[in-house]
This record gives sequence, structure tokens and C-alpha cells, in this order.
Amino acid sequence: MIRAIKGTKDILPEEVGAWQRVESAARALFARYGCREIRTPIFEETQLFARGIGAETDIVSKEMYTFADRDESSLTLRPEATAGIVRAVIEHNLMNEDPALRVYALGPMFRRERPQKGRYRQFHQVDVEIFGVAAPSVDVEVIQIALGFLEAAGLPDYELVLNSVGDAACRPAYVETLRAALRANLATLGPDSQRRAETNPLRVLDSKAPEEQALIESLPKISEHLCDACREHFAEVRRQLDLFAIPYRVDHRLVRGLDYYTRTTFEVTSGALGAQNSVLGGGRYDGLVKDLGGPDLTGIGFALGLERLVMILGAPKAERRCDVFLALLAPAGRDKALLLQRELRAAGLAVLTDHEGRGLKSQMKRADKLQSRFVALLGDDELAKNVWTVRDMAGSSQETIEDARIAAYLKEKANG
Ligand code: ATP
Ligand code: MG
Repeated sequence: MIRAIKGTKDILPEEVGAWQRVESAARALFARYGCREIRTPIFEETQLFARGIGAETDIVSKEMYTFADRDESSLTLRPEATAGIVRAVIEHNLMNEDPALRVYALGPMFRRERPQKGRYRQFHQVDVEIFGVAAPSVDVEVIQIALGFLEAAGLPDYELVLNSVGDAACRPAYVETLRAALRANLATLGPDSQRRAETNPLRVLDSKAPEEQALIESLPKISEHLCDACREHFAEVRRQLDLFAIPYRVDHRLVRGLDYYTRTTFEVTSGALGAQNSVLGGGRYDGLVKDLGGPDLTGIGFALGLERLVMILGAPKAERRCDVFLALLAPAGRDKALLLQRELRAAGLAVLTDHEGRGLKSQMKRADKLQSRFVALLGDDELAKNVWTVRDMAGSSQETIEDARIAAYLKEKANG
């Protein structure tokens, strides 16, 4: 038997309702913040991610699905949405066309990670990006979108974690300070962190290795090395979060996995999730558009993992599949039933019928499983008298309705 690829997951019809609810909550909320949807391809030139995300990140160094196309160009299944969106913004000059360039995207991402609960190789993200506003108020606005979405989706408990990672003016000096501190303590570090001390010291702050924790706590903190502009920006973000009474915790170790972040970074975690406790992550990326060959355009956004969110929310109860089930017990009545089915569907009702000539009991059982509100029954008796027997499944009352009135009757009942 051929099975789904390891780390991928079928979203079955009985689960899809939960996904659609979360997706429509996202669309409705994002529209209130002036965001419009953008849909970019799921594969791009490998270069885009290598340059946009950073070669030393986990994603680029070991998680990408990269393959040679038939003409030998290197392509990659997108591991995240921002780089592709930024490419599209530049390619189509969206910043010139759009007076408020804010977009969202929904769709699958691909990372070759070790599959485990809440961690897949194909997973889905909701992504929001706002371009061209440098003011700290937009950082807070993006955080409000993220939290508003979690509220709308019904996530019971979560924590907002916040940091500033500085910018091109102050971060390089901090990175050097950090590198020096790490070099002085190489013996305490495992091989990964030893390598990162040279290639990308900020990533050491992410390390979860128990033997490195004491050292990491004692390292110089970025908050003590921010330039004036970054410090003011961060202070204003915090002041406005207080203004809106949004609780948060500052964590100087929150540098996030991607290289492109500047200034504000944030993450939302939920205790309901267990080991993979991160629901969403985001931040400002003021240099990214320029790095990818575009104009000097600021950006900020977040990405949220839908599997983890849907997992916390749990399975909704079974849904009603039809308003009316046409129980056909007289084969000679088939055409009549099919015509009625078409008419009711055209009027907006969900209708199913039996195509296999099953007995009454089996058809009633099926109507019950489908949670049909009404069953319209056509047996030999009904056929002879030109009527239908209509059963209200909730009240289990029964009425006889003439052929001429049956469509109007069911439409009115089902809409009533
Ligand atoms: P983690 O620390 O769990 O690896 P990350 O920092 O790699 O997360 P981001 O790149 O910021 O995650 O992606 C944003 C969100 O996407 C995460 O908070 C998570 O909800 C979700 N996500 C990331 N990787 C996966 C995955 N492999 N499977 C399912 N969801 C994922
Ligand atoms: Mg990851």
C-alpha cells in the first residue's frame, strides 16, 4: 500500500470544518486591518530563500526541499512565506500601486524536519505582512492582528514574548561583543554552538542544550547594546502595548530563527501545546526588501502555524450534512426524486438521496447519520397517491404533502 509521505498529513473531511472556521476567522479579521490576500507560488528559485532567510539558519542549512529542475536551475519548495511575498512586492512594484501595502497569505510550507507532534514536513501558515511603515505603532498593530486572530479562533491561553534585536546601526557591534564572549567560553559549548559562535552568534541564544543554559544567561544582552533609535523604538512599542493593556514578557534571548529581523521580534507560545509550544512568530525586517533587490522599504509581519492552532482547538462535533434526505423506496419514483433533489438544491438546500435501492430502515439510519433535518419519503403508497411523507427528524412528527406542494413546503421548512 502506498502511504502519505512521512511528515505530511491528510486533512480529512471531518477535520476540514475546523480549518475552514479558523481560515474564515483570519480573513474576516485581517480585512478589518486593511489587509488583502496575496497568493504566491509554492516554489521559488533557491537563491531567494538562501539570500532572504540567511544561509546559517536552520531552515536554509538543513530544512529546505531543494531540487534541480530539468534545466538544472535550483528550485526550492517554500519553507516560509515572507521571502516569496517580498519578491512579489518588488517584482510587481506593489509599493507604488498600493496606498497601504498590507497583505496576508494562507497556505502550505515545506521543511525537512524530524516529524513529531506539532511538527510536520508539510504544514500550513497564516502570514501577515505590512510594508512601508517604520513607526512603532505598526509593530503594535501587527501584534494586535496576531492576538486578535488567536482570540477569534478561540485559543484559551497564550503568552506574548517580545524582544528587540537592534538594527544595522547597533547589531553588528553587539554580535561582535557576543562572539567575543562566546569565544572565551568555547569549552562550555557543544559543537553546534561552537560553530555558530563564529557563523551566527545570535543563534546560540536559541540553544536549548541544558549544559549551555548557565553560560547563555550570563552573556551580554542585546537590550544593553541597542542604539538610541532602536531603544526609543522598543520603548514606544512597550508603552503602546501597555496603552492597550496587552500583557507581554520581554525575553532577551528571543532572536528568532531568521536572519532578516530588525528591531521588534515577537512570539506567542501556548502551554496547551507541549514541546512544540510556539504558535506564531514575527518581527520587523526593515532591510529585507532592499537586500532582495527592491527599494528601501520597511516591513513587519508574523507567521502562524495552523496545525498547532487547530490541534489546540480540538475536533468540532459532527456537522449537519443535509437539510433534506430523499428516501426513495419505490424504484418507479426515481425521476420524481431526482427532479425534486435538483429543485431543492437550486433553492440552496443541501439534499442527498439513496441511489442504491436500500430498505427503509437503512435509509433512515443514513439520514440520521447525516444529521438531516427532514426526510421526504417516497414509497409505493405515496407514489400511487401523488404525495410524499415528510418526517421532521427532530420532532419525529410526520406529514403528508401533495406532489404539487412538496418543493415549496420543504423550502419553507428548511429555511424556517
Ligand atoms: P519552531 O521553534 O517550533 O521550530 P520556528 O521558529 O521554526 O518554530 P517559524 O519559522 O517562526 O517557526 O514559523 C512560525 C510558526 O509556524 C511556528 O510558530 C509554528 O506554529 C509553525 N511551524 C514552524 N515549523 C513547523 C513545522 N515543521 N510543523 C508545523 N508547524 C510549524
Ligand atoms: Mg523551526
